[in-house]
Amino acid sequence: MSTERADAIIVGAGLAGSAAARALARRGRSVVLVEASGPGHRRGSSHGSARIFRRAYPDPLYVRLTGQVQVLWRELAAEAGEELVTTTGAVDFGPARLPEKMYQILTALGVPAELLPPGAAAERWPGMSFGPEPVMFHPDGGVIDPERAMAAMRRAAGAHGARLFFGAPVLRVEADHEGAIVHTADRSWRAPAVIVAAGAWLAPLLGGQVPLPPLVVTQVQAFHHVPREPGPWPPFIYYDEVVRYGLPAGRDGEVPGAIKLGEHGLGTVTTGDGRDGIVNPAARARVGAFVREHLGGLEPDPVGEVTCLYTSTANEDFILDRHGPFVICSPCSGHGAKFAPLVGEIAAGLACGDPAPERRFTLAAHLG
Ligand SMILES: Cc1cc2nc3c(=O)[nH]c(=O)nc-3n(C[C@H](O)[C@H](O)[C@H](O)COP(=O)(O)OP(=O)(O)OC[C@H]3O[C@@H](n4cnc5c(N)ncnc54)[C@H](O)[C@@H]3O)c2cc1C
Repeated sequence: MSTERADAIIVGAGLAGSAAARALARRGRSVVLVEASGPGHRRGSSHGSARIFRRAYPDPLYVRLTGQVQVLWRELAAEAGEELVTTTGAVDFGPARLPEKMYQILTALGVPAELLPPGAAAERWPGMSFGPEPVMFHPDGGVIDPERAMAAMRRAAGAHGARLFFGAPVLRVEADHEGAIVHTADRSWRAPAVIVAAGAWLAPLLGGQVPLPPLVVTQVQAFHHVPREPGPWPPFIYYDEVVRYGLPAGRDGEVPGAIKLGEHGLGTVTTGDGRDGIVNPAARARVGAFVREHLGGLEPDPVGEVTCLYTSTANEDFILDRHGPFVICSPCSGHGAKFAPLVGEIAAGLACGDPAPERRFTLAAHLG
């Protein structure tokens, strides 16, 4: 079997790998993108039509990054000629007092935000019930369409000469004197840099060769609930002991207008290959109870449900770093979709020899 050459090989065509392929190909590099499944498949983390875009984080680093990526999303949408992030604004509420903290951080960084008394919030969003705490709204929030975004990124990558291979599981990657070799069942490629954007499969593929911090893969679920009233229903996050979120489900919803609801961080520990795809009935019951208590404008029983994978670091910071020829690209922990075009640029930079742009995302920081 002959070994072909490229400037960079990317393993995984989810949001991260698709973004990296576009970013590198636009820099004039020869790129090979290798994906185990088909385009838009549902076995990883990036499928479907709905993820939340938000600038609100209780951490100035991520707020700054959302500002950078907002510009990149607009560029991508202009290039693609279609809307990829629908800006609706986003709501934050709940007893954990995070909305007030985020309001202070956002406004200090010049990001528009409002802090509303619960009565005013109830008038504005009659489908939701608020406690006594203030409610935050920031107008830059919205809904990302990952399926269309990935397709747009891969079209752009292809237009700049990237070669895309689907249904081609990478069986092995190995460092060699010139960089690394990537093997599938019937082909192999050699390149000075290999970006591993394999989501839940990162550690099985690379763990023997790169010192990785613990990465916990969990199967989480989302539920689609039909509104009893039209809304408005902007994306929201509710902060209590458990963090819950909701957003318009878009094409994912079985019924037009359905709202997708989920829990952050209460998944079942699994592996990329070992997950069973079965929705946890306890999660369904918890989310139903949440709807009854806080979302009176939604039907409490879901019309649809779906599972998905989180791949999480201990502190939910991403890993974006280079070790030898390998660029480790692990931007999940349940919040990476919104950063995809920026993650692509960072991974492309690392593949081209740039230093890691953010210390918190380095292997050294994670391995502490
Ligand atoms: C239910 C849910 C809700 C979320 N909500 C939000 C949100 O509201 N906002 C937000 O910003 N983020 C959200 N996220 C997180 C976001 O979706 C992820 O950060 C993002 O999709 C991660 O993309 P990825 O490319 O790293 O991983 P993936 O999409 O999993 O891509 C990895 C790819 O690598 C491929 N692969 C693996 N091994 C191999 C191999 N050996 N050979 C070839 N290919 C391989 C896989 O098939 C897969 O296609 C959510 C995630 C989930 C699961």
